[in-house]
Amino acid sequence: MSFNDKVVIVTGASSGIGAAIAVEFSGLGAKVTIVGRNEKNLNEVAKKCKSPLQIVADVTNENDLKKIVNETVKHFGKIDILINNAGMSLLSSILAENAIEIFDKVMNTNLRSTVYLTHLAAPHIIKTKGNIINISSICGLAVLAKDLFAYNTSKAAMDHFTRSIASELASSGVRVNSVNPGPVKTNFIENMGLAKKEQVDATYDHIALTTALGRVSGAEEIADLVTFLASDKARAITGAVFVSDNGSLVKV
Ligand code: NDP
Repeated sequence: MSFNDKVVIVTGASSGIGAAIAVEFSGLGAKVTIVGRNEKNLNEVAKKCKSPLQIVADVTNENDLKKIVNETVKHFGKIDILINNAGMSLLSSILAENAIEIFDKVMNTNLRSTVYLTHLAAPHIIKTKGNIINISSICGLAVLAKDLFAYNTSKAAMDHFTRSIASELASSGVRVNSVNPGPVKTNFIENMGLAKKEQVDATYDHIALTTALGRVSGAEEIADLVTFLASDKARAITGAVFVSDNGSLVKV
């Protein structure tokens, strides 16, 4: 598989799954724009990529989203592939006093940013007949834990956005797909406040028991699926939702 001369934007590339995706695309010859808020982490990921364009940006900020597209086109001349990966979760009961505040934050980060960045990048991706991959979650397909209503809803909506835009952009030769991971070992659960740093390993050991295969994935396993879907090998695939969850959804 080669992505020589392809230009790829990866949001949330400063950590976890997005970092693995950016490094893998770069290793396969792509020119990558890596996006995140944490400049220090972004610098570390940049060291593992070949001449990346680094953009410190908050995906909930419209001007930052415009900067991501404009600077990529200015620097690399085009956009072939967009990976909408930046995401977060906050726990809340629907009965909590701040439930709507939590909902708005999660929806803005996970869903609105994906919709907005796709809106801005699509005209460029039509020119290159490229493709878009949204990093969703199995939480968009089933209710798997308590107090995740905002996250679950954002990811379910993302999946239907994927299908809707795949339908619209197919006639322009652009494919749009979703990758829905199950548990992947990243900073996510720590960032969600589900585990302190020293509890992360034990938490993942526990989560592994909830999957049919008895394991959690490394971020590079998701990157492998993403690069396959972005490649010409997947030329027949659009509007599809790909689960990679170690059998979490089929565990009995
Ligand atoms: P991490 O917490 O390790 O990484 C999240 C990334 O998103 C970081 O690079 C972070 O960058 C970025 N991000 C978050 N908010 C913003 C923002 N407002 N603006 C810009 N960047 C932002 O988690 P993962 O790598 O695990 O998560 C990546 C994606 O995978 C998410 O969409 C998540 O929902 C999904 N996923 C993860 C699973 C898992 O088990 N890990 C399972 C299923 C789905 P920074 O902090 O620098 O801004």
